[in-house]
Formats: sequence, C-alpha cells, structure tokens
Amino acid sequence: MQAVVAAAMAAHTILTAPPLQSHCPFLSPTTPPFGHTPTLHSSFHGLSLKLARHSLPLSLAAAAPKKPLAVVAATKKAVAVLKGTSDVEGVVTLTQEDEGPTTVNVHVSGLTPGPHGFHLHEYGDTTNGCISTGAHFNPNKMTHGAPEDETRHAGDLGNIVANADGVAEAKIVDKQIPLSGPNTVVGRAFVVHELEDDLGKGGHELSLTTGNAGGRLACGVVGFTPV
Ligand SMILES: [Zn+2]
Repeated sequence: MQAVVAAAMAAHTILTAPPLQSHCPFLSPTTPPFGHTPTLHSSFHGLSLKLARHSLPLSLAAAAPKKPLAVVAATKKAVAVLKGTSDVEGVVTLTQEDEGPTTVNVHVSGLTPGPHGFHLHEYGDTTNGCISTGAHFNPNKMTHGAPEDETRHAGDLGNIVANADGVAEAKIVDKQIPLSGPNTVVGRAFVVHELEDDLGKGGHELSLTTGNAGGRLACGVVGFTPV
C-alpha cells in the first residue's frame, strides 16, 4: 500500500509540477485548478483508506475461528395433562434429543389395578371429551399392534399397569412419536383406556383397530413446554 501511495504521490507531483505550465502556455488559464494541490492530495488519500478498509473484513474472516459452527444439541420437550369424566388423571412428559427416540414419562392415578391401553390419538381435540381425539395416530396406514411390532400404529404405546393404589408409572422410549417434523405428535392427544390393549392379538373384531381396549378414561393434548 505504501508503494501505491508513493507512486500516486509521484504522479501527483508530476501533474502539479511547475515546469508543466511553462511547456504548455495555453494551459495557463487552468493553472489554478491544477495548482489546487490540497484537494487532489486529500482525495487520493481517501481512496487509499477505502481500499484498506475493504481488505480488513476479508482478513478477519479468513482468520475467524470455527467456534460459531459448533452444533448445539436441540432438546425438545412436551407435556400432556390427562383429564376425564372419572377420577382418572395424570401427567405425561415427552423429551426428544435432536432426531433421536422420544422418551415418555407417564404418571396416571385413579385407575383400577392392572393393565390399561395407552395410546397417542390422532387429534388434539377434546371438544366432546376424549372421543373427539379420533383414532390411534396412524400416519403409515398400518393395523394395530404392539409398540415393538413392525406393523403398528405410531400411536400404539401398549399398556400401562396400575398398582394396587390405582397408580401407573411408566417410562416409554419410542422412535415413532417425534416432537417435530411431518409425524410430530405435538398437537395430538394421549388417551388412557378402560381395558387392557390386546396388542392386536386378541382375535376380537376390534383387536386390529383399537386392541379392544374399551372406553376412554382420560386424555390430554400434547403441547410444547420449556426445556
Ligand atoms: Zn393402535
């Protein structure tokens, strides 16, 4: 840069050198503008500064560390509060790290002891109670099954089992109930049923649609909650 400025200044010196006037007499009327040295000088300095400023961000970008590119794990968390027309109630929390499986923690009370079908239903609509949540969430158009089956509804989470006090606690880890993307379960609803889900193997006419799990005791819409 110094060389450029020096060269420019040299050129400037030639342009404004007094001998120019004497060699070309007819240029005499324009002598005052040529002789306006400070203006020409400062404008050239401005150009030099502009170039310097332009090159600064480039060098900074090249030297920038890669820290801003570090990937931060995206944790998503959701909750559903289950209510119904009976004493059955509960809280279900869902947690998903990145695109991994979803962990579901279930706590339901007020149940009769024993197994109860536990599913994610298609709609987050409780306008007319739990019946408004529709059928089991089934984006892949499968028949009803067990959570570990290849053929199952995405919403088929099997049974939760209530103890002698009527309390069921469970931890379920499942890959078919993500908290984002086209098959997200946020905005859908959990339902806990009156009877045991036969997991599609009971031979009942409802086995391949509902697991013959009977009535809907309580339900709750899944919504995002702070992580
Ligand atoms: Zn099902």
